[in-house]
Amino acid sequence: MGAVRKAGTAVGNLIWPPVSPLTGCNVAATGQLEADSWAAIHFLDAPWCDTCGLPFAYWVGEGAECGACLARAPAVHKARAALAYTDLSRPLVLDFKHGGRLDALDQLAAWMVRAGTGVLAGAQALIPVPLHPTRLFTRRYNQSLLLANAVSRRTDITVEPGWLIRKRRTPTQAGQSGKARRRNVAGAFAVTARGHAALAGKTVVLIDDVMTTGATFEACAKPLLRAGAVFVNALALSRVVKPADPTT
Ligand SMILES: [Zn+2]
Repeated sequence: MGAVRKAGTAVGNLIWPPVSPLTGCNVAATGQLEADSWAAIHFLDAPWCDTCGLPFAYWVGEGAECGACLARAPAVHKARAALAYTDLSRPLVLDFKHGGRLDALDQLAAWMVRAGTGVLAGAQALIPVPLHPTRLFTRRYNQSLLLANAVSRRTDITVEPGWLIRKRRTPTQAGQSGKARRRNVAGAFAVTARGHAALAGKTVVLIDDVMTTGATFEACAKPLLRAGAVFVNALALSRVVKPADPTT
């Protein structure tokens, strides 16, 4: 297969020269970043909250949790994200989300799989966070489904986009507090008949592009757990990181 695929890629590169998904500069291969961009991306790694994946400034011991998770145990068993959502990484995420830039998809999935080793292990299904049908119509594709498919190609965990639906369209979450976001998305998601038939005893992983307060993942996890899932984990491409002191 190699020669045909390589020839196809070479022709594709002539028509769509590979450019960095972060800066738009030409690079050697599709999905690559030029060297300078690597320093701009903050990849998330341990030490982090064992439950929500919030990075800690220093090591505080195996299985340590952040103050928020200690105060209110999330429905999501464990959440992880590949990179911090910052001014520098925002173009990468927004170009993918709104600009139809799909050439970096496999690279983004590779980062997610690396960060998500602990949440993907033992999972039987990947569930992309669903868009409301009217939003899907205006955006043409669900970025979470594309990420889930790309993660699936690397992990062989099946994608189940038909188990969870968004019942009502929620206003955009940008600029809202954690409490407002929770209210916004509470009850917005429901498990389908197919999901109800399949979820009992399963460990599943929700997939999304950006995790801000975790409110969307929580709103998705609750109906999945009620439908019989044993563990609902979550894996995002990026997450907003506020400085956190693990001792508070
Ligand atoms: Zn936490």
